[in-house]
Amino acid sequence: MIAAIAFGLALLEAQSAAPRRVAITIDDGPVVNEMSDLGRFQRITNGLIGSFQVEKVPVTMFLNERQLNVQGQRDARAAVVEQWLNAGFELGNHTYSHPSPNKVSVSQFLDDVVKGEVVTRALLEQRGKQLVWLESCTAGTSRPTRTGRLQGHGHALRVDPAVALRYD
Ligand SMILES: [Zn+2]
Repeated sequence: MIAAIAFGLALLEAQSAAPRRVAITIDDGPVVNEMSDLGRFQRITNGLIGSFQVEKVPVTMFLNERQLNVQGQRDARAAVVEQWLNAGFELGNHTYSHPSPNKVSVSQFLDDVVKGEVVTRALLEQRGKQLVWLESCTAGTSRPTRTGRLQGHGHALRVDPAVALRYD
């Protein structure tokens, strides 16, 4: 019995020695479909940030900057993005308006990529960081083809084996 337990513990130790990493990402951030109620937008953000901080979960949030472009609320919504950075989390570009790269032209998709990084890139660079990640949750199975097309248009992106596209 003791030998079996010792063997089991040794097995667990061997398994836990193997490096394992998990990336937690949130798409459609900061708060999908909340385009009018600033208070609700802020409360949801505070709840998410607080929960991830308590659990010490490293998170990358992918933004659709369209959510920041609400007349009379732009500065307050950008401040919500700063909260994510101040909490120590990473940010990525999820395009401006979430178009499917399979349903719009390459130039339309690239325009949306560039439009989607205006606030995010500036906030990251203010902190000496770079915008690294671009993710499109509608990429589907055509990702390699789409990426090749994007590279052909001067945007150096490559497919990350896990989830996202990376700016190079
Ligand atoms: Zn999405």
